[in-house]
Amino acid sequence: MEKFSFLSNKEFRKLVEGLTGSFTVYGTVRKDARLSAAGDGFPAYGRISCFEDLVLGLTPTHLSAKEFLFPQRETLLKFDIEKMTHAAVVEAVDQVIIGLHPCDIHAVGLMDRVFAYGKPDVNYLARRAKTVIIGTDCMPDRFCFCKSVDTMNVDAGFDIFLHRVKGVEPPQGAGPPQNGFLVRTATDRGKTILSKYAKAKKASLKQLDEIAAFEKKREDSFTAHIDAPAGQLPEIYSKSDESPVWERIGAICYGCGSCNNVCPTCYCFDVKDEMKSNLNEGERVRVWDGCTLEDFAKVTGGHNFRRTRSDRLRHRFNRKFNYLTGRFGALFCVGCGRCSRTCLVQINISEVTNELIREYNAKKRQ
Ligand code: SF4
Ligand code: SF4
Repeated sequence: MEKFSFLSNKEFRKLVEGLTGSFTVYGTVRKDARLSAAGDGFPAYGRISCFEDLVLGLTPTHLSAKEFLFPQRETLLKFDIEKMTHAAVVEAVDQVIIGLHPCDIHAVGLMDRVFAYGKPDVNYLARRAKTVIIGTDCMPDRFCFCKSVDTMNVDAGFDIFLHRVKGVEPPQGAGPPQNGFLVRTATDRGKTILSKYAKAKKASLKQLDEIAAFEKKREDSFTAHIDAPAGQLPEIYSKSDESPVWERIGAICYGCGSCNNVCPTCYCFDVKDEMKSNLNEGERVRVWDGCTLEDFAKVTGGHNFRRTRSDRLRHRFNRKFNYLTGRFGALFCVGCGRCSRTCLVQINISEVTNELIREYNAKKRQ
């Protein structure tokens, strides 16, 4: 198959309908229309039961899709103390996620490495193996900075990727232009699904020109950026421990953990045992945790290794740009801008990073 093929809207509908008939499907939707300024709802992920549920938009969702691979709460084990029995729980269904942008597909790739590292995490990996990823193109908003961290484009990590196009102009008088998608597949599973549920055609040169023009427009549309090469950020962060930035942002941070929750690469969790009222049966569950929360680094006896909000923010930012790069060979920020978009006190990760870059460069000049 050539790199791109064309899927008309009609065929795309068939694809989505075929998928909803065979898989649990999640995709981009609009939520809470009443609360959004434009009245058309906030971009979010939700369950897709029919074609009409899906709203493929160009803007980033507030929450990432990580909950479908790494649920906010999941049971790992069931046990019975009286019977002295236990059984592992691994829950994974065949599922599809439609609408991931390139940065989010990079984020899934990072999560794959994390959960396969050391002793493989069977729960995550079972779910991941049964998950089909269908990506879509996007347009940056004022918080997106994927271009600065090399996650703006993606060639792997998805099964199918969709680029919106107007399609072939029909002969005069033969109806409106046929809107649709140029489609790429990156796995055999993607190819099989595409040919099973829809009929793709050869892409035309005009369509290829159209997505080239769109990609150029997209690249020129970034307003947020990081003012140093991505490869220099671990070094810059490693020299930033004494920066006054941490005290300043720590003084306004609420310690609410929203930045951890919305981040597609924050993967920390807590594990606890929950007993039923008969005090015999119980479940071991894991729930998301967040390094900006006060108790995250508190240990038995009450000592807190990161007592202040400044300490905790410095830790979080270093996890994204410094600490994990040695182990996984990549930055752990994909530039989606969600943490900045969601922060109630407008702590903006690209602006903070640029402040640290300015301090670093000033010190070097001294
Ligand atoms: S979202 Fe903002 S206020 Fe909340 S913990 Fe993160 S940085 Fe602090
Ligand atoms: S740190 Fe912020 S910008 Fe970076 S991946 Fe996480 S949510 Fe996105």
